[in-house]
Amino acid sequence: AHSRLLGPAQIRALATELGVRPTKTLGQNFVHDANTVRRIVAGSGVGADDIVLEVGPGLGSLTLALLGTVSRVIAVEIDPVLAARLPATVAEYAPTRSAAFDVVTADAMTVRADDLPAAPTALVANLPYNVAVPVLLHLLARCPTLQTALVMVQAEVADRLAAGPGGRIYGVPSVKARYFGEVSRAGAVGRNVFWPEPKVESGLVRVQRHSRYSDDPEVRAKVFAVIDAAFAQRRKTMRSALAGWAGSAAEAERRLRAAGIDPQIRGEKLDVDDFVRLAQVPAGD
Ligand code: SAM
Repeated sequence: AHSRLLGPAQIRALATELGVRPTKTLGQNFVHDANTVRRIVAGSGVGADDIVLEVGPGLGSLTLALLGTVSRVIAVEIDPVLAARLPATVAEYAPTRSAAFDVVTADAMTVRADDLPAAPTALVANLPYNVAVPVLLHLLARCPTLQTALVMVQAEVADRLAAGPGGRIYGVPSVKARYFGEVSRAGAVGRNVFWPEPKVESGLVRVQRHSRYSDDPEVRAKVFAVIDAAFAQRRKTMRSALAGWAGSAAEAERRLRAAGIDPQIRGEKLDVDDFVRLAQVPAGD
């Protein structure tokens, strides 16, 4: 069953009806271009068996495209005015759909798997840009059934997330995202597909879960603590950057050597595997 999609006229009409004044704090930029939402859905690789978690459905642009493709969409929207209008929009634009649709009015930064009516297999979202990285990492951590994610974020953030070790833009988001899966860039999106137009270009990022590392929250927190410490002072060697984390530079050096890492190296040269090994080294006395 095909859904009709929202174009500029429909977005404007919905915004007027709801009295929506898009807020920057909530990253409210609505897509009014059917090709863009089709590209996002195609790029996500989701199919008829998928239960999709969509964060920030807004006026429903991407939601409608998803409903034509997957078995169920669970939309998590923080803005109660937008959330309340979605079921009617779905009924109006996708009247013959077979996909189930639920909207959960909640903050995606703190939502838990238990708050959702079903376990999602894929995350597909045009994320609110100011909280894109924490939302993505939170959901990968809290919803272990998510096998893939395809998210639209600010282009710079997309580059950062997808960067591998060695480069200047490789940092905390790049390493943490790699803890959960393989991360890659999946295309660019211009500013003119949004209302209102954002000041920045956008990009798509894909995460394919690999389940290589523990999903025990305590183990993960230990690994993430070393990552945070390593990048807090980018220009320092690991030996001195990790002095606070380990208790002293000498103890940092001992743990680095035990993990097979050169203490003189900088954090940006290390991959997630190095950080996982380092976090596992028992503390000395
Ligand atoms: N998906 C829609 C589209 O493509 O047109 C809207 C995308 S807009 C960039 C981001 C959406 O996320 C807005 O609807 C906003 O209200 C919502 N949002 C912002 N912060 C949120 C949060 N913490 N949890 C859930 N939704 C949030």
